[in-house]
Amino acid sequence: MLKKMPLAIQILLALILGIIAGLLMQNHVDEAEAYIKPFGTIFLNLVKFIVVPIVLFSILAGIISLKDIKKVGSIGIKTIVYYMCTTVVAIIIGLIGANLFKGFFPVLQTSELTYEAAESAPLMDTLVNIFPSNFIMPLSNATMLQVIIMAILIGFSIILVGEEAEHAVKGINSLNAVFMKSMDLILRLSPIGVFCLICPVVAANGGMILGSLAMVLLAAYVLYLVHMIIVYSFAVRTMGGLSPLDFLKGQLPAMIFAFSSASSVGTLPINMKGCENMGADKDVTSFVLPLGATINMDGTAIYQGVCAVFIASCYGINLTFGQMLTIVLTATLASIGTAGVPGAGMVMLAMVLTSVGLPVDGIALVAGIDRIFDMGRTVVNITGDASCAIVVSNMERKKANK
Ligand code: ASP
Repeated sequence: MLKKMPLAIQILLALILGIIAGLLMQNHVDEAEAYIKPFGTIFLNLVKFIVVPIVLFSILAGIISLKDIKKVGSIGIKTIVYYMCTTVVAIIIGLIGANLFKGFFPVLQTSELTYEAAESAPLMDTLVNIFPSNFIMPLSNATMLQVIIMAILIGFSIILVGEEAEHAVKGINSLNAVFMKSMDLILRLSPIGVFCLICPVVAANGGMILGSLAMVLLAAYVLYLVHMIIVYSFAVRTMGGLSPLDFLKGQLPAMIFAFSSASSVGTLPINMKGCENMGADKDVTSFVLPLGATINMDGTAIYQGVCAVFIASCYGINLTFGQMLTIVLTATLASIGTAGVPGAGMVMLAMVLTSVGLPVDGIALVAGIDRIFDMGRTVVNITGDASCAIVVSNMERKKANK
């Protein structure tokens, strides 16, 4: 029976059961931490394990699919500028919004949260560190931004080498499919992961954590909506020549799919079809959307802003303006490094927290309900990609008609 039940439902059930088990185990916190949490950690480890090959091969495969490099040039600049700008706006909305909700976030006294201010890296060092000085280390340390730089460099080299790289192209496409399949297998374990992550958190913090988790979720969803309504509607109307309502209608099937699969990459085919139905050119969608599913994650950026403020607040920390600026930068970069697969945004949250010296352990607070954040942020992510396809298509058409 379990086999037939959609994964999203299984995860939801696991969440409810995990909460109930956690409430029942409030007097057995040590046992929950010792025997249940490790299985959650195993799941998180597997997600972390798969994220490097997924980022590497999905970006490589995305780039080498753009053989016509001149075409990439003209569409590429517009796409990248659009993606960067919308992501920066998203993270700003996330941070401002989360600060408005902050009054409802708790300082957790019942848990054993302790915090020692850690130094965050200076901005220039962060920039320098994006560029790898070694071929293996970025992969083994899962330094996402370095992996992305590698993928971009190697991807474009493959295009430039041309015929001689034919085998590399085949190999990369096939490895991409293999890693996607592995990811799929790992994700089937999500119900177990969710149960084992939420149960110890609820056991340790009691029912009170549920109210605050509901508040962060609400904050995130309100801000997802704000971003979609303000930024995308404005963009498709002013630059895409499409009414926001038509856009929403055309986008609905992809949104529903994204919500239930929590995967931008998985939603790609249906998103492409939707955009073409709305009048976007095939040339444009086949570049803009795969790239977007790999590097453009506005929903993830909002989520990271909200969670950073929430986790800081749980530890009784007020983020400074400088820290918020650092979050804007790292979350924008993290958005590029986030693979369009379920749970990837949570992995990248670690990078954002580290950049401002917040304790990475805070992720355990939100990890159990990550799937619920993820469903919403994936909807925002793919809607951002689609709005870009509409805008760039319209601009290219206007340019051609001049
Ligand atoms: N699941 C998201 C996506 O596929 C990525 C994330 O975890 O934030 O777009």
